[in-house]
Amino acid sequence: MQRRGLLVILSSPSGAGKSTLARRLMQWDPTLSFSVSATTRTPRPGEVDGADYFFRSREEFLAMVEAGEMLEHAEVFGNFYGTPRAPVEQAMEAGRDTLFDIDWQGGQQIRNSPLGRDVISVFVLPPSIAELERRLRGRGQDSEEVIAGRMEKSQAEISHWAEYDYVLVNRDIDVAEQELRTILTAERMRRDRQPGLTEFVRGLNQEFEDR
Ligand code: 5GP
Repeated sequence: MQRRGLLVILSSPSGAGKSTLARRLMQWDPTLSFSVSATTRTPRPGEVDGADYFFRSREEFLAMVEAGEMLEHAEVFGNFYGTPRAPVEQAMEAGRDTLFDIDWQGGQQIRNSPLGRDVISVFVLPPSIAELERRLRGRGQDSEEVIAGRMEKSQAEISHWAEYDYVLVNRDIDVAEQELRTILTAERMRRDRQPGLTEFVRGLNQEFEDR
């Protein structure tokens, strides 16, 4: 018997290091499947359609929502973002864990969906707001106006920290990565997530009897 895949939700205000952590976790465990979201925002330099996001027009996006193809969707910074349903369901059925980089609205929707019992949610906090702003500026990809908007949204995002199962303070990216690996490792080892255990222990007992 194979276990269903876990849904690992990572949320944080922009600039707290969530994307870096997501990338590192994917490198650490290549069996993880990354949920590529659809969005109506324009690509940043270097972003690749189909890898970072599926970049879609508003009409295309809303048609996907209408057709029931989104597991969740939300408006963030005036653009739509959503999680295509099919790849998540395929990964779950194949026993593969999926990593989501989504905001608190998406986290709530997936947690409250029928898939909720397979969700592990992790919130990443910045060590300070000054550091958050420094990291946002360091990207050099966004205009002043966009940065100001993101700072404003950060407070709203952080206000949802207590809805998450786990909370990391990203003071040091290596430490935060290690903490995230530990969370995933422990969650995978929960007794109810190891459906082969009964069979395994039966084998151990058989060995006792055969001695
Ligand atoms: P960015 O534009 O910086 O890539 O992402 C902005 C915010 O939207 C981030 O907090 C990111 O986690 C969130 N986001 C990205 N994809 C999705 C999604 O599919 N659903 C939801 N609810 N939020 C998303």
